[in-house]
Amino acid sequence: MAKKKQIEWDLAKAPESRGHVKLKERYDLFIGGKWVKPEGGKYFATIDPSTEKKIADVAEASARDVDKAVKAARKAYDNVWSKMHPKERAKYIFRIARLMQERAREFSVIESWDGGKPIRESRDIDVPLAAAHFFYYAGWADKLDYAFPNRKPTSLGVAGQIIPWNFPLLMAAWKIAPALAAGNTVVLKPAETTPLTALKLAELIQDSGLPDGVVNIITGAGSTGAAIVEHPDIDKIAFTGSTGVGKMIQRSIAGTDKRATLELGGKAANIIFEDATINQAVEGIINGIYFNQGHVCCAGSRLFVQESVYDEVIRKLKHRMRSLIVGDPLDKNTDIGAINSKGQLDTINKYIKIGKKEGAEFYQTECDVPRKGFWCRPTLFLNVSQSHRIAQEEIFGPVLAIQTFRTVDEVIKKANNSPYGLSAGVWTDKGSKIFNMTSQMRAGVIWANTFNKFDPTSPFGGYKESGFGREGGIHGLAAYLNMN
Ligand code: NDP
Repeated sequence: MAKKKQIEWDLAKAPESRGHVKLKERYDLFIGGKWVKPEGGKYFATIDPSTEKKIADVAEASARDVDKAVKAARKAYDNVWSKMHPKERAKYIFRIARLMQERAREFSVIESWDGGKPIRESRDIDVPLAAAHFFYYAGWADKLDYAFPNRKPTSLGVAGQIIPWNFPLLMAAWKIAPALAAGNTVVLKPAETTPLTALKLAELIQDSGLPDGVVNIITGAGSTGAAIVEHPDIDKIAFTGSTGVGKMIQRSIAGTDKRATLELGGKAANIIFEDATINQAVEGIINGIYFNQGHVCCAGSRLFVQESVYDEVIRKLKHRMRSLIVGDPLDKNTDIGAINSKGQLDTINKYIKIGKKEGAEFYQTECDVPRKGFWCRPTLFLNVSQSHRIAQEEIFGPVLAIQTFRTVDEVIKKANNSPYGLSAGVWTDKGSKIFNMTSQMRAGVIWANTFNKFDPTSPFGGYKESGFGREGGIHGLAAYLNMN
């Protein structure tokens, strides 16, 4: 069969400038409000995944550095932060939010440079949402008694926070903002491949005048994260990442009185009924799986299409996929940026091979991709069955597994047939169908006629192997409080 020609979308290059960005060649650890050299003297490089070139060297924190950071956080908690009037705490959090808005452009460029995501997304989604989280939780800081009436909410102490590489600044905001608003101090570790916006946030925090030690940011790999989890003076662990590491964390803290929230993987069902507005649903499918290269825990990676509209949906979906531009993350026209790391690209390619071997029908667009760097064209698999690994396991890349269904009961069973339960999407014209679906599906977030929408006021979290605890909204605040 003749190959479908790639649609021509010849747009002039529109690269965002890096000229206004200030980065150091080497970053130390941010402990007790100061930049501190790592005890072991070790540094590692963080690279641009679109060129494979080094951007900066970053310190590797050992267990001794973790201990220093926890001590600094404890001292700040005991002497300053827990004693400060909540109204004063709120002012600092508001100041962080405002400074982030002022420096939004610089943060967006660094986020796309270090992590590979399109500048359009970091500029319009990651950074504004991160600032919005600080604004939102700043508002709650002096109103905890109103948030939880008839309770006496008190802070927990020191929170250890470990975040992944898919939304580095946003995840830092999800973790730090509610913790501070609830009166805790924190030690945060960003992921090894995307430490730069967290380190930039440390500079911003210095500029905000936040008392020393209230926020400590230390870099390193999995062993640094494990040292945070195991530290005896940590009161709460907040983790976002893989289900495998989440399970290790649970084992490690079993028998201690550490509190934990775990936001883990997902394999969301995105369900298109025959009465949906198909063009709108196709946009939702694209956004659901190709947003942020599919590096999204709540990505709509399992698509269910009602049989009667299957041909139309697939035709329109392929047409729309062929218009997606893959390339330079800093180009404002780019739809899909670079895969975050070589390791993640290998994982995605492994799953593409598995999908083909399992007998699913493979389709990938033929757009140009740069020679250097880590890239994956938008991909889908047709004729997928429930038992296929590409329908069961999280791929975390721009790869969609498509199945069909005939009835509501059938699709509910299929959607719930997953070890995960983080999110889902329903596309239909009928409100009653939406309520029926949402009441029967086991997923923490269910979007109706939209997908991948986030808001600081709305709780987010999973069922089953997608973890437990909620972030966002007052639920996210409760996770950092003792309720007496
Ligand atoms: P990980 O769970 O390994 O990483 C998440 C964070 O935990 C990182 O900061 C990591 O450090 C840290 N970490 C790693 N090992 C430990 C440990 N033993 N104790 C404490 N912290 C640890 O995810 P990966 O980056 O390896 O991604 C693998 C898969 O996880 C992806 O393919 C995807 O399926 C899933 N994932 C899900 C995310 C989500 O949002 N739910 C986000 C990211 C990944 P470092 O990376 O620096 O080594």
